[in-house]
Amino acid sequence: MNIQKIRLHEQAPAETGEPLLLDQSTSFLQRTAIVAAAAAADADAVDREARFPKAAIDAARREELLGMQIPHEFGGPGASIHDITEVCYTLGRACASTAMIFAMHQTKVACLVRHGRGNAWLETLMRRVAAEQLLLASSTTEGQNGGNIRSSAAAIGHSDGGISLSRDATVISYGAEADGLVTIARRANDAAASDQVLLALVKDDYTLTRTQGWETLGMRGTCSTGFELKVACPGDRIFPESYDKIHVQTMTPFAHLCWSSAWAGIAAAAVERAQRFIRKAARGAGGQMPPAAAHFTAAKRSLARLRAMITTNLDAFAACEHDERTLASLDFNASITLLKVEASELALETVMHAMRACGLSGYRNDGDFSIGRHLRDVLSAPIMINNDRILANIATANLMSAVPASLRD
Ligand SMILES: Cc1cc2nc3c(=O)[nH]c(=O)nc-3n(C[C@H](O)[C@H](O)[C@H](O)COP(=O)(O)OP(=O)(O)OC[C@H]3O[C@@H](n4cnc5c(N)ncnc54)[C@H](O)[C@@H]3O)c2cc1C
Repeated sequence: MNIQKIRLHEQAPAETGEPLLLDQSTSFLQRTAIVAAAAAADADAVDREARFPKAAIDAARREELLGMQIPHEFGGPGASIHDITEVCYTLGRACASTAMIFAMHQTKVACLVRHGRGNAWLETLMRRVAAEQLLLASSTTEGQNGGNIRSSAAAIGHSDGGISLSRDATVISYGAEADGLVTIARRANDAAASDQVLLALVKDDYTLTRTQGWETLGMRGTCSTGFELKVACPGDRIFPESYDKIHVQTMTPFAHLCWSSAWAGIAAAAVERAQRFIRKAARGAGGQMPPAAAHFTAAKRSLARLRAMITTNLDAFAACEHDERTLASLDFNASITLLKVEASELALETVMHAMRACGLSGYRNDGDFSIGRHLRDVLSAPIMINNDRILANIATANLMSAVPASLRD
C-alpha cells in the first residue's frame, strides 16, 4: 500500500495550527467517509426517484477521489487497487448506485492509466481527470448483444484525418451526467467482430440521443439509460493497444474487483441492519435470541467468505499487475473471471440471509430494518455481465488448466 505522507490542511490541530501529516491511505479513508455520509443521506431518495446521486458524486469530486488513481507524473496521488476497492466497499455500504458509479468510473480510469502512456491525448485526459475530477462512463453493451463484450458490431469510420462511430448503446450508466466516455468498437468496417479498439472521449467528441429509460428493480441511481452514441473526433482518441490486451490486463480485473467490492459493501450494510434487528429483538425478549438468529449467523458467515475471496484476488492482482504473462495466464484469468460470478452470488446470498434474519421488518419498505433497497440493488450483480454467459464462456478454458497439486500453488 502506498504510504506516502501527505498534508491535510483542513485537519489542522487547534493548538498548533500545524497541518496533520497523514499517510495517503488514511487520507483516502477520511475523505471516503465524507463522501459516504453524503451518499447515505441521499440513498433512499436516489433509489425512490431513480435519480443520479449528485450530492455524493459532487462530494467525491470535492474530495478528489475521482482522480485518486492518476499517477503522480500526471498530477494525481497514484492510489493502489487496494485503496480504490476500499472506497468501493465503503460507498457500497452507504449507497449501492454511488458505489457502482465509482467502480465503473475507476475501471475506465484504470484503462487510461495502464494503456494511455505515450499517446498525447490520453495523457492530457489523465491530467484532466486529476485536475478537473472528470467522471467517465462506459459503453460496452451494444444492440441485443448483452454482455458479450468481446464482440462489437459498430465499426470505426475514417474521414479527413478524423474518425466516426455510430453505436446502439443499449445501456450507459450515468451517460447523461458523465464528462466523458470510454467505449469499445470494431477496428474498421472490414474487421472481425472481435477485432476491437478502445476509445476515450470527452463530451465534445460525441452526442447521445436517448433511446431507452431505466425503470428497474434496483441500482436505480446509476441511471443506466440506452442511447444512440454518435462519435466524430480526431483519431488519437483510440488507444494504441488493441482491446483484447486491455480487456485481459485491465478491464476485467478492475471491473471484477471494483464491482465485487461494491457488492460486498451492499451485503455488509444489510448484515449491519440485521445485527441491529437481532440485538433489539433479543433485548426485547430478555436476552432470548429470536429463531431467525441463525440467518444472521449465515449472513455473517457468507460476508466473511465474500470478503476473503475478494482480498485473495486483490492480493493476487496486486502481485502481478504489471506482469503481462501472468495476467494473460489461464489460472489468473479463471480466478478473476470467476470472482465476479462467485462474489455476485455470495453478495446476494448474504443479503437474503440478512432479510430473513429481520423477518417482516426486513421485508417492509419502511422502518430502520428494511432490507428492500439492498436486495433490489444486489439482484443486479448476477446479471451485470450475466453469470450464465460467463460460465458458458469459461468452460473450455477451464478444461485446459491443471488441477492444483498442492494447497498453495
Ligand atoms: C446496474 C447495471 C449497470 C450497467 N451499466 C452498464 C454500462 O454503463 N455500460 C454498458 O455498456 N453496460 C452496462 N450494463 C449492462 C451489462 O454490461 C450487460 O450488458 C448486461 O447486464 C447483460 O444483460 P443480459 O443478461 O440481458 O444479457 P446477456 O448477457 O445477453 O444475457 C441474457 C440471457 O441470455 C443468456 N445468455 C446469453 N448469452 C449466453 C451464452 N453465451 N451462454 C449462455 N447463456 C447466455 C443468459 O443466461 C441470460 O439469461 C449494466 C448492467 C447493470 C445491471
